[in-house]
Amino acid sequence: MPTLRELGEFEALRRLAATRRERPTVIVGPGDDAAVLRPAPGCDLVATTDAFVEGRHWLAEWFTPSALGARLAVANLSDLAAMAATPRWALLSIGVREDHAIEPLVELQRAIEETLGREEAGIVGGNLTAVEGAEWLNLTLLGETAMGRAWTRFGARPGDLLAVSGHPGRAGAGVLLARALGEKARAPEWQPLIDAWMAPASRGPLARALAVTGGVMAAIDVSDGLAGDLAHLCEASGVGAEIDTAALAEDAALARAAAALKVKPLDLALGPSDDYELLLAIDPSSRAECERIAHDAGVPLRAIGTFTDAPGTLVGVGSRGARAALEPRGFDHFAADRS
Ligand SMILES: [Mg+2]
Repeated sequence: MPTLRELGEFEALRRLAATRRERPTVIVGPGDDAAVLRPAPGCDLVATTDAFVEGRHWLAEWFTPSALGARLAVANLSDLAAMAATPRWALLSIGVREDHAIEPLVELQRAIEETLGREEAGIVGGNLTAVEGAEWLNLTLLGETAMGRAWTRFGARPGDLLAVSGHPGRAGAGVLLARALGEKARAPEWQPLIDAWMAPASRGPLARALAVTGGVMAAIDVSDGLAGDLAHLCEASGVGAEIDTAALAEDAALARAAAALKVKPLDLALGPSDDYELLLAIDPSSRAECERIAHDAGVPLRAIGTFTDAPGTLVGVGSRGARAALEPRGFDHFAADRS
C-alpha cells in the first residue's frame, strides 16, 4: 500500500480526484485552480464548514476511514438541513502525516462522495497537506434555498411547539459507553447508541419535506447537545422553552445506557451529544401535517415541549407538573470540564 511520501502530492491528488463524479452544476471541476459552480437562478447560497481532528473528534480504534468520511459528511449535511437547504457542492481539505497510506484516504473520500451523493451533492475540489502531529479533515459544504426561504435559529414564538427528530442523547451515550466498556460496547444491546454516534443519518430530506409546509418557524441541529442547542435557538429567537421531561426521557435504549453508566436518562437526553438531529419550533396549526411528513419519511418526530415568553429560561416539567430549571450543558469545545 503506497504512502503519500512515496506517491507525492500530485499523484495522490489525481487518485483522490478519480472518485469524484461529474455534475451538471459544476462548470469547471477538479483539476483547475478553483471550481466554477452554477447556482440555480433565484436561489440563496448557503455555506457551512466542519473540521474533525484526530483524537478529539474521532477515536481511531473505532472508526474505519469510510465510517469517518460518512460521519463528516453528515455533520455538514446536518447544518444545511437545519437551514432547510439543498446541498450541492463540497470542498475537502485533508491534513495527514506523510506516512499515511493512500488507500484509506481514497476510501474516506469515496464514503464522503456516497453520503453527499444520496442528496445529489458532491466534492468539487480540495486540498491535501502534510502535517507533523494530529491529522485533520475539513469539509466545506455549499447548498441553496429558494430566495429568502432558509430556516434560521430566530423566528420561534411563544406557543410554538418544540419538536425533535430521532432520539437525542444517544450519540453522546454511545461515546460514553465506548469509553466505559471498551470492546464490550460492541455488544448488540448497545448497537442503537453506538450507531447513533458512529453512523448518524442525514435529516436533510426530512427538513426539505417539512419546509414545504411553511409551519417550521425556527430550527437548529443538535450537534452539541439538546439543552445547549435549544438554548442557542431560544437566545436567537428571544424566547424560553418548557420541556416535557417524561416525553423526552421516553427512550428505552437511552434508559438502559443510563443504568449501565449510573447517570439519569434525562441527563443523557439533554447533555453533550452530537446527534445531528433537528430541533424545531413548529406552528401548532402545522403539527399534524409535520407529523405525517415525518411518519412518511420513516423518521421519529416528537413534540417535547412548548416555547414561552420568558427569554432564555429553560424549564423541565415532570409528569406530575413539577417544574425545575434546566442547565444548558451542551458540548463546548473550549470548556475546561470536557466530558
Ligand atoms: Mg449546527
